[in-house]
Amino acid sequence: MSRSQQNKLPCPKCGHKQDTTIWESVNVTEAPELREQLFKAELNMFRCEKCACKAFVSGPLLYHDMTREFCVQYYPPEALQDGELLQQFTKDGKLNVKEVFGDIAAVSGAMRTGGYMTEPHIIFDMEEMQRYVSFRERLFQREASEAQVYEALIALLHRGTEDSFVFIQEPRSEKFVQFGRGRFLGMDVPCTALTSEEADRASRFFNELGEEYPREYHAPDPKTGKTHHGATFHHDFAQGARAAARAAIAFFVNVYGFPSDVEISIEEH
Ligand SMILES: [Zn+2]
Repeated sequence: MSRSQQNKLPCPKCGHKQDTTIWESVNVTEAPELREQLFKAELNMFRCEKCACKAFVSGPLLYHDMTREFCVQYYPPEALQDGELLQQFTKDGKLNVKEVFGDIAAVSGAMRTGGYMTEPHIIFDMEEMQRYVSFRERLFQREASEAQVYEALIALLHRGTEDSFVFIQEPRSEKFVQFGRGRFLGMDVPCTALTSEEADRASRFFNELGEEYPREYHAPDPKTGKTHHGATFHHDFAQGARAAARAAIAFFVNVYGFPSDVEISIEEH
């Protein structure tokens, strides 16, 4: 739940008074537009209708992301002068949950949400809020991509027709890796899909997996019936879907040069 107050505030420059929304708590899962406002530095920003002066209205602000399960609590630096703020924390910087949530029911309510509500990341700088939120979003995305690949590979192990395979692609560049065919986790990257620099890095990548050379293949094209000849980097992960998923993401990062939170699309055939 997001929480705000409407206050009539005077402009720090011209003194014009106007209604201003001050957010105390933003739940960006329920209200994603508030996340956008944070990244445009518009959250709790006073904008004078008369003189166009902009000023940040300093007050405590809780940022809460239920999907990614984290929260960030901003306090204005001047709040450090305040004994009441210090009262809310234990000496190792953790929230004093009894003090803050009041009774046991509220504490266990907060714990039910996964416990992260009782362990907000504390900051005293609004710019730090943007940085920290980006940091957590990227960590989440990295996990999500790997989990997505893992699910597809588990499904491949169970699907098990001779033709089945999984095609993983970064949609903008169309760079890819594939697994299959059939019911096994053989990771394949045809040499023709790689630039010469990528091929060098792919060599090192597959070397570390214990593969010496790209493998020759002669595969019939299911559409034309023609046989294609070529070379492909290949490694068999047997039943190791976890290791295979990790390797697929690592290939996008180490060989293709994407960030570790690369967004991928998966086709399951
Ligand atoms: Zn003004």
